[in-house]
Amino acid sequence: MEKLEHIGIAVKNLEESNLLFAKLLGKPHYKIEEVASEGVRTSFFDVGGVKIELLEATRPDSPIATFIEKRGEGIHHLAFGVNQIENEMKEKSNAGFSLLAQQPKDGADNKRIVFLHPKTTNGVLVEMCEDRN
Ligand code: ZN
Repeated sequence: MEKLEHIGIAVKNLEESNLLFAKLLGKPHYKIEEVASEGVRTSFFDVGGVKIELLEATRPDSPIATFIEKRGEGIHHLAFGVNQIENEMKEKSNAGFSLLAQQPKDGADNKRIVFLHPKTTNGVLVEMCEDRN
């Protein structure tokens, strides 16, 4: 893992949360992006190089909708930037972590991403992400 890239926060209403986080952080979000394949709409804030990613469900079967139903709004995942995501996946898998997918998927913010199952990471959903070029 190279760095903490962003912190993902599940929210019910992206517009309202954008205003709330702008007030909290003292700056507005710098972009909004929809990832249709994941059923999410995201917005991004930059806090000294670490991003805050707000995530809103765009359909009832979105993983974010399921998360909010079970646990309410709040921290959803930690994302770590990696180089050579396929190698990291092999390494983490060999080290006993369980991957939620066998191939990286396209995520928001021009990234290829994969998640580690929280049951193997002390209950924390961990994302590994790599810049898509
Ligand atoms: Zn993320």
